[in-house]
This record gives sequence, structure tokens and C-alpha cells, in this order.
Amino acid sequence: LPADFKEALPVLEKIEQAGFEAYFVGGSVRDHILGLPIHDVDIATSAYPKEIKEIFKRTVDTGIQHGTVTVLMGDDSYEITTFRTESGYQDFRRPDKVTFVRSLEDDLKRRDFTINALAVDCNGNVIDKFDGLQDLDKKIIRAVGKPEERFHEDALRMMRAVRFQAQLNFKVEVKTAQAISDNAPLLKKIAVERIREEFIKMMISQTWQAGFDDFLKLGLSQFCPDFSNHKTELLDLLKINDQIFEDEDQAWSALGFVLNLNHQEFNKLLRDWKVSNKTRETSLNTLNMLHLFENQDLDLWNIYKLGVGNFERVIKLCQMFEIEFDYTKLKEQVNNIPIKNNHDLALTGKDVCEILDVKPGPIIGKSMSRIERSVVEGNVSNNFDDLRHYLLINQ
Ligand code: ATP
Ligand code: MG
Repeated sequence: LPADFKEALPVLEKIEQAGFEAYFVGGSVRDHILGLPIHDVDIATSAYPKEIKEIFKRTVDTGIQHGTVTVLMGDDSYEITTFRTESGYQDFRRPDKVTFVRSLEDDLKRRDFTINALAVDCNGNVIDKFDGLQDLDKKIIRAVGKPEERFHEDALRMMRAVRFQAQLNFKVEVKTAQAISDNAPLLKKIAVERIREEFIKMMISQTWQAGFDDFLKLGLSQFCPDFSNHKTELLDLLKINDQIFEDEDQAWSALGFVLNLNHQEFNKLLRDWKVSNKTRETSLNTLNMLHLFENQDLDLWNIYKLGVGNFERVIKLCQMFEIEFDYTKLKEQVNNIPIKNNHDLALTGKDVCEILDVKPGPIIGKSMSRIERSVVEGNVSNNFDDLRHYLLINQ
């Protein structure tokens, strides 16, 4: 057993001593078998939440209505979820009813893909009811049971399929892929936030192309905000072959670029996808800067105004899209800009009033901007005496 599982063993053993079953399940089992780092260890049990709370002293009701209790042990915490089945799904997203059950197999049956439906017991034995091991070996994403039904139950699973495909560099099995293609319109029923979460996990994966390709080819993109009827443009993104996106903001900017969006259109897209304000702002500035570079408009002041923090992100994008310029020289110039924003100036608006012997007013703001620009462009150095002198001779 890997270290993460070993640490959690006392939890499993305690549940078993109380007469119940407990297993490691889900993503951690999959990642362990693939030899990948494990994020969080999920535990599934035949004990009901109430029973778990009787076994452990320190617990938190994380999602008690779905059967999840968090157990605190030393400095660690573990999510323990009661075996359950789900039924209903009238709205193609959430089950109407969750039922706690005592059978592991029933719990594994409700899971999305065979590679996510594996369990490991406290002796390290793998429980594999749906040939998940074989699919891991063959690098295949296959729905548990009938794919059509599974996507009708929860349409988000179609996005999860391409997300795992991107993260693991797997292929989607033929019938599962066909069912995605047939049911892609169901994605309209899913909250955009949930789609975005899977979409971004896909885009920032090491082999995002593997998932993005099927995201387009199986028709999922047609039912995502502002992507419909833009398959051709989006396919262009696959031309930037072996490059990966370092963060969400970079991925959004690249999408805005291939879609050839102006500031307003890109802003709309980001709002429609409900990205955070911070990401929206960074992505907008990054795309603006990328357009400057594309037009060879390498003005230091413009770059500074769009945020020096976005510079590296843009350089990476320029390399992806083969936009060429003397980047070593520009990088040196940008790195030499002595201030991040006007708060870093060695002189304040109040100083300007005193030096020029004027009352506060619009003229101060103008002087400050002029000073800021001169500092950025390297025409004056950022210390009080030099700035004072500069101000007096440039009134
Ligand atoms: P990650 O590495 O991103 O955490 P994961 O496989 O652990 O991947 P989670 O979203 O954390 O994914 O879900 C944990 C497990 O719960 C999955 O492995 C799967 O067995 C099950 N699961 C999660 N979401 C669904 C879903 N929409 N439908 C069916 N089963 C699901
Ligand atoms: Mg997980």
C-alpha cells in the first residue's frame, strides 16, 4: 500500500473492528494503480453516518445527507462516505433520492467510469467488479453499465469523460463515445459552473489535446457558452501541439485568441462562463497584450498598463502561436521597469502639490501620470530628488 493509504489504515481498521466494511475508493485507487501522485484519499463504508459518528470521537458532518462524514485523526482528516445508490435524475443532473446501502458492489455501480469504480481493502486487495483494471491497462475510459443511461442520469459525466481523457491521456471507449455524441445536448441542463470546472481541469492537463479533441469532435463544445458554431476556430488550438497551459488564465486567453474575439466579445465569453472576476481581468489583459505583440506594438508603457505580471504568460502564448519578436531584449526592458504601479513612485500627489505650490486638483493627477510614464520608460529614475527636479523642469 502507498504511504497515503497506510496513514489512513487505522481508520479502516477501526470501522472493521466495529463490524462494518470499509475500502479506499475512487480517484485515489485509480491514481495509485497508475503510479500517479494521490490527492485525497476517499473511504467508502457499509456503516451509516450515524454509526461512523459513534465509532469516532472527532467528526464533522461534511455532507451528511449524501452520507459523507469527515473523521479527524491527529492532524489528518478523512472523508468517509456510506455506500449508496442514487435514483431519480429527472433533471439530468442530480439524483432525486440517495439511498444508503450495505453492499460495496451497489456503490461501485453508481460510479461514472470503470477506472473510477475500483476499491482497495485494508490488505491491499483490489476489488474490480467492472474490469476497471483492464481498462486502466488499456488506457480506456468506459462508462459503468449502459453509457446512454449513465449520461441521462447525470450529463456532467460527459464532460468528466473528456477531462479524464486529458488528464490521463486515455481514449474514450467506442460505445461511451457514441453515447456522448448522441447526448451532448443534455449538457444544456448542467450549471455552467460545473461544466467550467471540468473544462478547466481538462485545459490545464499535461495532455489536454487528447480531451479537447473529443470535446470538439463528440460535439460537447456546441453546448458550451460562446463555443457553438466555432468548431473550426477551436480546432486551430490543436495546432499548438506539445504546449501546455500553465494556468486557467493562460488557457482562456488562448481560447479568446483562436476565436479571434475583441475585448468586448471576450469579456462576454468570460462572463457567460462565470469565471471569477480576477481570472476575467487577467485573461482580458493578457489577450490585449498578446494582440499588442501580434501587431509588433511593443510599447513599454502599454505593456506596463496591462500588468507586468501578465508578461510571462503572454511570452508563453507568443511562443505557442509563433508570434516572433526580439523577446530577450523586451524581457530585459520589462524586468527593468522599477515600479509595479503608481503607489511605488518615490513621490506622492501631496509632494507634487508642495513642489509646484498648487492646491489639489486634476493637474496633480496629470503630473503624476506624466512622472509614472517617464519612470516606466526609463527617462528618469525613481527617487525623490530626481523626480522633484524632473517635475520642476517639465511643468
Ligand atoms: P480527482 O483526481 O479530480 O479528484 P476523482 O476521480 O477523485 O478525480 P472526484 O470528482 O473527486 O473525482 O470524485 C470521486 C469519485 O466519485 C470518482 O472517482 C467517481 O467514482 C465518483 N464520482 C464523482 N462524480 C461522479 C459523477 N458525476 N457520477 C458518478 N460518479 C461520480
Ligand atoms: Mg477526488
